[in-house]
Amino acid sequence: MINEHVSESDIQLYAWTPDAVAKTAIAHIEQCDHCRNAALSYQFIFGEIKDAPKPSFNFDLGSLVLQQLPLKKSASERSSILIWFWICISLLVVVPLYIFQSDLAVLFKGVSIFVIYSLAAAALIILIFRILEIYRRYQRKMDILNFS
Ligand SMILES: [Zn+2]
Repeated sequence: MINEHVSESDIQLYAWTPDAVAKTAIAHIEQCDHCRNAALSYQFIFGEIKDAPKPSFNFDLGSLVLQQLPLKKSASERSSILIWFWICISLLVVVPLYIFQSDLAVLFKGVSIFVIYSLAAAALIILIFRILEIYRRYQRKMDILNFS
């Protein structure tokens, strides 16, 4: 048996989980009135805390938080922006083609068919690599999202 009183933290630990305290401390607590009373007080307090009702808000926290969040752009808004983007791009391509349609034949007149096909093949290869790169980036992002 320990002659000095057991520390406050050991008494609290004894009140919460008696098995976690050293056997000498348990022997002292069981024989010392002062330490046993302190342990009983802590057991009473811990019991009251366990039995206390869980804290809850008297208002709807979810709706208050949702009101604070910024509104996301709707799908129709995003698709209209995308449509306007493609209309602008098409105008940038179609209008010059219409204006210079008589000169287009002259543009490719002196160029051999091999050069034209080589340019088309190079453009196609670049396009394929860009699409593959976009797909790989998309896959990486999806992997990150699925991991977390
Ligand atoms: Zn004691």
